[in-house]
Amino acid sequence: LKVTISEIDIPCSFGPAYEGERVRGKDLFCQMGGGKTQCTEYLEMADMNDIEDGKVTVDGPDIGDLSRGDVLPLGIFVKVAGREFQKDFEPILERQTHHLINYIQGVMHAGQRDIAWVRVSDAAVDKGFTLKDLGVVLHAKLHQDFQAILDKIEVVIYTKQEDVDALTAKARAAYKYRDERVDQMTDEDVDTFYSCTLCQSFAPNHVCSVSPERTGLCGAYNWMDCKAAYQINPTGPNQPIEKGEVLDAKLGEFKGVNDFIYKASRGAVTKYNFYSMVHDPMTTCGCCECIAAMLPMCNGVMTVNREFSNETPCGMKFTTLAGVMGGGASSPGFVGHSKYNITQRKFILGDGGLLRMVWMPKMLKEELRERIEKRAAEMGHPDLFDKIADETVGLTEEEIYPWLEEKGHPALTMEPLVG
Ligand code: SF4
Ligand code: ZN
Repeated sequence: LKVTISEIDIPCSFGPAYEGERVRGKDLFCQMGGGKTQCTEYLEMADMNDIEDGKVTVDGPDIGDLSRGDVLPLGIFVKVAGREFQKDFEPILERQTHHLINYIQGVMHAGQRDIAWVRVSDAAVDKGFTLKDLGVVLHAKLHQDFQAILDKIEVVIYTKQEDVDALTAKARAAYKYRDERVDQMTDEDVDTFYSCTLCQSFAPNHVCSVSPERTGLCGAYNWMDCKAAYQINPTGPNQPIEKGEVLDAKLGEFKGVNDFIYKASRGAVTKYNFYSMVHDPMTTCGCCECIAAMLPMCNGVMTVNREFSNETPCGMKFTTLAGVMGGGASSPGFVGHSKYNITQRKFILGDGGLLRMVWMPKMLKEELRERIEKRAAEMGHPDLFDKIADETVGLTEEEIYPWLEEKGHPALTMEPLVG
């Protein structure tokens, strides 16, 4: 017996109309995540008998316990079960959190995974919004949109630091597992890539193309995930793209991809390359985990992750970069990408690959240390990690250049980045 939910029992208005709505500083009651606190979302398959459909628990302080301006750690843990449900579907359902929470009037959601951000407005709180409503929405909408595969959904909302930390640790292990499922695959192995147009409600011309060696820029969808999403919903936002003729193997240009994005962007984007940020890079939406930018003086590139709030050597903070680049345009010299993509073999390979990387925030570098070292060794530069500058070296090209020279960074002797 399938559960059908027609009404969503929350005190706020709800629907796609509110998706693009922002919650600005002057209207902000409270927030979770966004660099202020930990905010993690994780969806996991559970045993049918271990969960109670429709149960939503808030474990810890809720809106009523807060004062205006407060911040709170948040863990959104969704447990699902269904006879047709497969473990591979977890990332797809988890990613729905983004638009479903945005559907609530007066509540804003950005980011994904362990870098999510939820902002709640005064207006929502006046209407009686509580964190429990996040669970009510997820339960109702996941049933509605995925009724073919789901039978039971239970949601736990954690707001105590130790619980959020525990959920985050568990979620990170799952993200790692999901990411690594495409590790052994190459783009040459497959004839089909997948599109993702889930973000078009925010960035109307934006089309992510996802290949085994280029995960979605939000980091939440890789090739396997898109393939599974297409299986669940053949008319949904993840469509197969026949690669077709290889127009440029080095930059990663494919006839089939160009044809697809032309249609999917309604003519706004005619072509882009998978492996270049210099020449016709892929389009970027506001969800990207990182944004890479050229550093001409250093003959290299830098990248910055969402959590790093300081200035960077390209002269812009992450938020500024995201504001300029995140509308769905292809901006030569810049590209949004996932964290994981930095160490995928094809990462800006048409521009020289990881060996071009001259600056990263220390937190990002450390997070990826093992993988950077492995990939750099594969590329013949086992000591690259220690040659990548970070904010302790400098925040401008002028500051980092002498250091790179002293370390003998490979980018300085590579062919000019812009030919
Ligand atoms: Fe899909 Fe790209 Fe948006 Fe991720 S960023 S949800 S891959 S369109
Ligand atoms: Zn997006």
